[in-house]
This record gives sequence, structure tokens and C-alpha cells, in this order.
Amino acid sequence: MGAVSPYEAAVKQLERAGELLGLDKWLVEFLKRPKREITVTLPVRMDDGRVEVFTGYRVHHSDARGPFKGGIRYHPSVTLDEVRALAMWMTWKTSVMDLPLGGAKGGIACNPKEMSTSELERLTRRYIYAIREFIGPDLDIPAPDVNTGPQHMAWIVDTYSAFVGHYEPAVVTGKPVELGGSPGRLEATGRGVMITVREAIKRLGLRAGDVTVAIQGYGNVGYHAAKTAAELGFKVVAVSDSKGGIYDPSGLNPEAVMEHKRKTGSVVGFPGAKDISNEELLELDVTVLVPAAIEGVIHGGNASEIKAKIVAEGANGPTTPEADRVLYESGVMVIPDIVANAGGVVVSYFEWVQGITRERWTLDEVRRKLEAKLLAAFDEVYRLSKEREVSMREAAYMIAVGRVVRAIELRGIWP
Ligand code: NAD
Repeated sequence: MGAVSPYEAAVKQLERAGELLGLDKWLVEFLKRPKREITVTLPVRMDDGRVEVFTGYRVHHSDARGPFKGGIRYHPSVTLDEVRALAMWMTWKTSVMDLPLGGAKGGIACNPKEMSTSELERLTRRYIYAIREFIGPDLDIPAPDVNTGPQHMAWIVDTYSAFVGHYEPAVVTGKPVELGGSPGRLEATGRGVMITVREAIKRLGLRAGDVTVAIQGYGNVGYHAAKTAAELGFKVVAVSDSKGGIYDPSGLNPEAVMEHKRKTGSVVGFPGAKDISNEELLELDVTVLVPAAIEGVIHGGNASEIKAKIVAEGANGPTTPEADRVLYESGVMVIPDIVANAGGVVVSYFEWVQGITRERWTLDEVRRKLEAKLLAAFDEVYRLSKEREVSMREAAYMIAVGRVVRAIELRGIWP
């Protein structure tokens, strides 16, 4: 049996929502396909004088409910298939959070770890030059994703502003705060993951002090999830990165682990903890498992080995449809990615609003509004899952797809 590609998984999830909602076939066919896909060829001069040719993508899935919104990923394994899936997931994420936005995603197949800062700057600017007619504050608002961050967004603001002839901060989110970024954006995804976990724990009648957490991936999402977990009184017992993981049943200090990763390049070898593999981390006997690295890590081959009571999807698409079924049947509560990791896009939306209105909100205000959005969505999804006796993912999709379909019906087909 071959592995399921991210796009195949996304289509399966949509088809299931279509069945549950009793949608007309054409609507499912329509929503399977993005509104447009842009592939661009990017010649970039490297520091040694050579020109390297990269391929970049931007996929616009749906703008039925508002401008396209989604991050940009730099990774050697980026493909159009992956970006297409991620764009569709963004449509459902903005919809389930009830943000007036659509879904998009971008990516460049490159290895940023082997590139200098000036090479990355030239690559980013060349990419924005190539897609400049397809982005803008009312059209498509990119943001960071894997291996991109505030500095890349700053280059994007500058490049886009040069083309439109005036400073335009609302073209991207995830900017440095000095350029109109929102306080609380960097922490938002990881923080949001743990806010949804806290809600799940309440529903399951567990006590915060008894909760143990394992996190796969110790980047932006994993680290902030770990910090927030500690803040909420949960014990983080295991974390990992691409080089491997660490386990300490007495609990890890998230900041000390990050300090070790900064110094050595990995969480592996953290003093006092046992080194484990990424596979072992997934199968630990913990209350909460947070996959916060890449797609497809929980699959048909290991789903029955998952011992956590709650899987909170920090990453996009970490669970394959086959694994989903196994987890649901064994009573594991999966908080789906479009809810669990939506904190990032919610605060991105706040940043966009601040950009357009030229307002500045405080960190407290951002955290309060983020929490309110996540609680409302979690509650709605949880209630529907109980009412219809479906998984949290199916319930989330029913709400998200249902809203997009309603917008399409109201707007009509024209011309
Ligand atoms: P990041 O680049 O900051 O961190 C990724 C982490 O995953 C790193 O620690 C890396 O070492 C680890 N990793 C990579 N490959 C791995 C592997 N094969 N096994 C184990 N660990 C591995 O990225 P991020 O921003 O934290 O994003 C992580 C995931 O969360 C992605 O799926 C991304 O799409 C999703 N996400 C991110 C945001 C956001 O705001 N950053 C929002 C929503 C979803």
C-alpha cells in the first residue's frame, strides 16, 4: 500500500465532509480544485557568482469568504501537490475560525539551511517579484510557515511596497513588530495548541496537574506549545526535532531545552534526559501528543501504537485518514489541525486588521481575543461532534466546508 500524499488526504477529508453535509457532487468537485495555481521559475545569483534556478509555487484555493490567506514554506521537499493540500487546509481553517478570509499557500523547493542570509533575501525578493500581481492586502496575504519568519516577511513588505509605490504593511502578516507585526504573533500557534488542549482536558474530566505532554518538532510551534503547557501546569516529558528526541518523566524545562538546542543545534543530548527516536516519542504513554513538525507522521502503520488520550495537531496534516479512523475507534480525541493550530492565522488576521486600520493592539488584547476565538471554535466543533457522533475532524470540516459552500451559494455562479 503506497503512502497517501497530502493532497490525497485533503481530498478524502473534503469528500467525507461532503457526504456528511449531503452536498451536491459539483460542489465537492469544485472545492477539490484550487481557484488558481501559480508556478514560477526563480533564477537567483548565489554568493559565489553562480546562478541557481529554483521553483516557487503559490496556490489560491478559495476566496469565497474573503482574501486568500496562507504561509510560505521553504523546504527541499516542497511540491505543488503539498502546497495544494496546504492551501485547501487554509480555507477550512479560516472558515472554522469564522475569519473573513480564504485559503492559500506558497512554497519554494530549496534548502534554506545551506543558503546564506543574502541568498535567502535574493530568493525571497525574486519570488515576490514573480507573484506580485497575485498578492496584496485585498487579494492574498502571505505569512510565514516552515523555515520562514519575520525577516522574510520584512523583505516581502519592502519588495511589494517598491512595486506599488508606497509602504504597504498589510500585504503580509508575521512581520517584525517594528514593521507593524502584531504582538503575540510568534507565540500564537503554539499557545493556541495548548489552549485547545486545556479545553479538551476539561471535557475529558482530567486534572491539569496529572497531564503529561510529548511534542514532536521543537521549532516555532513546538517550543511555544511547550512553554504554554508549562504555564498551564502540564508536564512536558518529551520533545524532539529532526535529529531525534529526548524523554524525562520528571519533566523538561522548555527554555533550558531551547537554550541547549541553540547551543548544539538539536534537543538531542539534553543533560539528564534520555535520548529517544521520533518514532518512540509518538508511542509514549502520555496524556497529550502534539505532532508539531511535518505531515503524515501518524499513519496506518503506527496509529494503533499511539497511547495518548489526546492528539493535538500542531502541524498541518500529521495524521493520515487511515490513522484517523484507527484513533477514533480506539477513543483517542484528535483535535484537528484546522482548530488546534489556528492560533497563528487568527493572530495573522488581527495583524492584518491592525495593518489596514493602522492601529496597534497590546499583547493582552491579542491574547484575550485569540482565546475567545479558539474557545468559540473548539466549543462549536466539540458540540457538533457529540451531536452527530462524528470525530472532531469531521465536525470541524462540516462547519468549515458548510460556511464556504453557503458563501458560494449566496454569491452565485457568474458569469
Ligand atoms: P519550524 O521550522 O519552526 O520547526 C519545525 C520543527 O520540526 C523543527 O524543530 C524541526 O527540526 C522539526 N522537524 C522537521 N522534520 C522533522 C522530522 N522528520 N521529525 C521530527 N521533527 C522534525 O516550523 P513551525 O513553524 O514550527 O511549523 C511546524 C508545523 O506546524 C508545520 O506543519 C507547519 O505547517 C505547522 N504550522 C505552523 C504555523 C506557524 O505559525 N508557524 C501555523 C500553523 C501550522
